[in-house]
Amino acid sequence: MTRYQPVIGLETHVQLSTRSKLFCGCSTDYSGQEPNSFVCAVCLGLPGVLPVLNAEALKISVRTVLAVNGTVSEDSRFDRKQYFYPDLPKAYQISQFEHPIGLGGHIDVELDGAVRRIEITRLHMEEDAGKLVHVEDGGHSLVDYNRCSVPLLEIVTEPDIRSPEEARLYLQKLKSILEYLGASDCNMEEGSLRCDANVSLMPAGSSLYGSKAEIKNMNSFKAVSRAIQYEIERQAELLDRGEKVVQETRLWDDSSGRTSSMRSKEDAHDYRYFPEPDLPPVRVEAREIEQAWQDLPELPDARRQRLINDHGLSGYDAGVLTAQKAIADYFEAALQVQPNSKSLSNWIQSELLGYLNRDGLDIEDSPVSPGSLGELIQLIDSGKISGKIAKEVFAGMYQTRRPPAEIVREKGLEQISDESALEAVVASVLEAHPEQIESYRGGKTKVIGFLVGQVMKETRGQANPGLVNQLLKKKLGSGGA
Ligand SMILES: [Zn+2]
Repeated sequence: MTRYQPVIGLETHVQLSTRSKLFCGCSTDYSGQEPNSFVCAVCLGLPGVLPVLNAEALKISVRTVLAVNGTVSEDSRFDRKQYFYPDLPKAYQISQFEHPIGLGGHIDVELDGAVRRIEITRLHMEEDAGKLVHVEDGGHSLVDYNRCSVPLLEIVTEPDIRSPEEARLYLQKLKSILEYLGASDCNMEEGSLRCDANVSLMPAGSSLYGSKAEIKNMNSFKAVSRAIQYEIERQAELLDRGEKVVQETRLWDDSSGRTSSMRSKEDAHDYRYFPEPDLPPVRVEAREIEQAWQDLPELPDARRQRLINDHGLSGYDAGVLTAQKAIADYFEAALQVQPNSKSLSNWIQSELLGYLNRDGLDIEDSPVSPGSLGELIQLIDSGKISGKIAKEVFAGMYQTRRPPAEIVREKGLEQISDESALEAVVASVLEAHPEQIESYRGGKTKVIGFLVGQVMKETRGQANPGLVNQLLKKKLGSGGA
């Protein structure tokens, strides 16, 4: 896309991990429960009730604003956003408009080795709406208010993003930060992290923004980058034909891989915001902000840097290990058992994550504990088992949840490092391969690799390869085979 420069901004709704809703005591633990069983007069918007702000939701919001380098407003307000739709029983949503809890901030992402800074415009608290369930062939819909008034934090970026890849990286980084904070479970499929994208194109070299389309309904990282890519191509084709891009909201359909028009600017809502009279201004004292800043946990960028500095990992490896807090925790727990950071990093990235991905498991549910993986690497490092055998042991650990030493003992997998035991095998291999001996003595010393391989095969991979190499050289060099 060289003719046009994509201009992308993201609006992300994060469902905050509170036990109760934003303005009432109803539990947020409604997943899989009876529809409309987690509701009360407040979240149903019955007349005469008064909302009360959930202190925990405010606390998490403040931490999140600080974690993305934003400024916490000491004095923020709630407003009423009017719209009439069945998922909203009050016919208005309590949100923050002119005085949000957070202003400014940024998230850095790394693309092709270069750091790109995505500026954040604002962060504001609001309540979620209910959920419509469309009855198939029934010609009607049902509404479930369990989700109604669950706390959300909306995070809006500047139109700073320039490619679908950058959008995906931003969102992954945001998710990672939210997980480190414990701010949200960030489950995109279940809707606790929802993202809308504003996409427009401007001619290369221009600084004038084109008209934008807002894309909704992207439920995975992959969907976000696919939908934006599709939208860029759609708009480029329109502009190439000399047509205009209509400012509108478009829905992404993951199965067809297309966006389609949902509503145009003409029927855009006039939300008629006005201050929420039932909620006082939200005061956060400067010392509370200072305290929240002090209490922030180590965040992904800092942890990545620490793994590079303290454990000599490459930027790439440290990035993979720290993208998810649980993986970084696992790594550091295993490191306590066997401080071989490079080997641990390799085993986690290849074997462990490979097995877990295959089975769709999170690292928290790994059948191999960090301690056991540390012990496995101890066995390799001390020469008790070879790296090759270790993979077999790992498979056993994963299947049975037993410690590696037990599996090695039971299956008799210990590495053979006993010279006298190996000498006999070496002798029989040499006897069977007179041609290779001749080539070796004729100067083709590389053939020794083949002979080592034969000994390894004979011992089912259990021979100590270094020792086999030594023994072979000795025999071949001495001329007695
Ligand atoms: Zn309620």
